[in-house]
Amino acid sequence: MTPYIIAPSINAADFAHIADEVVACEAAGADWFHVDVMDGHFVPTITIGPLFTESLKRVVNLPLDVHLMISEPEKHIEDFARAGANNITVHVETCENLPRIVERIKSLGCTAGVTLNPATPASALDSALPLVDLVLVMSVVPGYSGQKFMPEMIAKVEEIRTKLNALRSPAHLEVDGGMNAETIPLMKKAGANAFVTGNAAFKHPQGSGAGVKMLKAIINS
Ligand code: ZN
Repeated sequence: MTPYIIAPSINAADFAHIADEVVACEAAGADWFHVDVMDGHFVPTITIGPLFTESLKRVVNLPLDVHLMISEPEKHIEDFARAGANNITVHVETCENLPRIVERIKSLGCTAGVTLNPATPASALDSALPLVDLVLVMSVVPGYSGQKFMPEMIAKVEEIRTKLNALRSPAHLEVDGGMNAETIPLMKKAGANAFVTGNAAFKHPQGSGAGVKMLKAIINS
């Protein structure tokens, strides 16, 4: 049985107090930290890169789950592997040869994930599915935090869960975008086991520790 995972997205944290935020999330039982990398090209926003990831690595005990929302990811995966990424996930829309990039990520000592935009059909991942350690379903259009969950992505999670089961794959099925106390149970029922949480963790009125505790209680209920 694949464990249930809460992966707070670092982009929603207060960067001026990142070490405190990380400690609070870890003490509250977070499983991974999700690092959303945006390049201002594949998506309109610019966020963080390998330098920040390397600093983060120094204060984090949990695995770093790096999600590359960037054009030409093959030019940068080595930098993120060196910066301490444990998992690197690439968008099928940015890869000419998805299986080759997946193998390259693994050769750098990381686990490999693939993901797709809401408008991209699940079948776009078929060539890489037997090779991957993680499939990420975007339940919002990537590029901005705080967006509303798209309920039509429930069927996509169900479809990918069916495919992974048919392959007897132990890959994680992760969801990113609009995940909170209401939407996590829907995606868990559809077959997801890992949940990226931004504002639901870091913008909790009692702080990020309380946010993570609340979300952990939900996935384990
Ligand atoms: Zn992400």
